[in-house]
Amino acid sequence: MTSPSSLINPSDSGYDAARMAFDLSDQKPAAVCTPTTVAEVQEAVIYARENGLKLANQATGHVAVALPPLEETLLLKPAIDIEPVINAAEGYARVGAGTRWGPVVNAAGEHGLAAMHGSSPTVGVVGYHLGGGLSFYGRKHGLACNRVRAIEVVTADGEVGRVDHENEPDLFWALRGGGGLFATVTAIEFDLLPLGEVFGGISFWPVELGEEALSAWLDWTRSAPDSVTTSFRFMNLPPLETVPEPIRGKSLVAIDGVAIDHADGEALASLLAGIGEPVLGQWGPMPAPAVSSLHGDPEDPIPAIGNSTLLNDVSDELIGALNEAAGGESGSSLIATELRQLGGALGRPDENGGVANRIDGEFIAFGVGLATDPGTAGKTGEDLARIFESVSPWESGRQFYNFAIAGSTCANCFPEEAIEALRAIRHEYDPEGLYVAPLAL
Ligand SMILES: Cc1cc2nc3c(=O)[nH]c(=O)nc-3n(C[C@H](O)[C@H](O)[C@H](O)COP(=O)(O)OP(=O)(O)OC[C@H]3O[C@@H](n4cnc5c(N)ncnc54)[C@H](O)[C@@H]3O)c2cc1C
Repeated sequence: MTSPSSLINPSDSGYDAARMAFDLSDQKPAAVCTPTTVAEVQEAVIYARENGLKLANQATGHVAVALPPLEETLLLKPAIDIEPVINAAEGYARVGAGTRWGPVVNAAGEHGLAAMHGSSPTVGVVGYHLGGGLSFYGRKHGLACNRVRAIEVVTADGEVGRVDHENEPDLFWALRGGGGLFATVTAIEFDLLPLGEVFGGISFWPVELGEEALSAWLDWTRSAPDSVTTSFRFMNLPPLETVPEPIRGKSLVAIDGVAIDHADGEALASLLAGIGEPVLGQWGPMPAPAVSSLHGDPEDPIPAIGNSTLLNDVSDELIGALNEAAGGESGSSLIATELRQLGGALGRPDENGGVANRIDGEFIAFGVGLATDPGTAGKTGEDLARIFESVSPWESGRQFYNFAIAGSTCANCFPEEAIEALRAIRHEYDPEGLYVAPLAL
């Protein structure tokens, strides 16, 4: 066949721009395709197969670092209909591949609706759903992938399909949490929440209050209502102008979160007020679209490395252990050492859900630090090792797909039974193993 119209080879002038990834990985694919129509995706898939290339789907490149070497791989970066369509009457969104969360959240907000987005507006909507989707509405409404109505795909044979609960339910099941190994997604449709306003906020305290804050928060999580989803962090914020002055360059503890039921949010806010005077903090009613930037994730690329694991049966001993490893006296340089609160609907199986229909853990422990040069990367690595050792007594042995790290596989995320089912589905839809993804199967 002739080359796809959107093909960019290494000798072409646009190659370096086209292969760029948000996470600054120096990925060097055999070629890049940037299709803007479904027909162009089909061309690219067939071209890869006929030329003996593997195929890697990508939107933003937030997790490009976890991909295998791409020298024999066509990097496929679809950007199709990236203006989201909100069907307000039926309460759902239709979003093309390549779209980031920011525009979707704003478009839904104009209709008094909220999407089950994560903590960063720059993450891609398709990749987020394919890895499960953990949002600040999660304890009330479960994983975002369980609210997906339909997924439009081009499969490894170049065929176009629309999968949902009735059509090709096996592929629909695998795509909802199993990642980008099964097909190229061209569009996704998912239910929105009828939420124009929520109660939310964030407070930062001096790191010296770390043990007290962690103790109060952990105690609260044990009987917290499902309407609230929160996060606790030890933070070492960089001295950047983009960071608000009172917290710039400081070591702090932070608690943020969202309550769907305002009374639950007010109760949490008054509990947090008892921890001590925050350096910066505000809780109250807020428009739902503002939730996408509440956590303050960096919106520009920074070189970083991290780790994550799921925790279960957490006891009070974690408070001292984590404070010693990541708190004020620890010497930690990590930008964030985080515990994300799980449980509620996130922990309950959804009968109609995909392979990631729940998260089996009480908390996700997550750590991230700078890797700007070998020196900072080395220090970050030491801090990560010490911090993850400190929480190891409560490790469940599993990871959550969207927070899994380079080198993890699907076997780290799902039980053996689910892995067998995913392998069978992959064999059916991609028998030659065309697709590569951050987590191998
Ligand atoms: C700052 C930050 C904050 C985050 N916060 C959260 C959070 O709150 N909750 C949460 O659940 N996750 C969160 N994540 C994780 C994020 O959801 C995953 O890393 C997700 O895979 C990123 O998708 P992407 O398209 O942006 O990245 P990419 O690197 O472009 O894609 C990731 C993978 O998704 C698959 N993929 C992407 N597009 C397609 C497609 N069109 N067809 C088929 N496969 C495709 C591919 O396998 C690809 O390798 C966060 C990540 C970052 C960097």
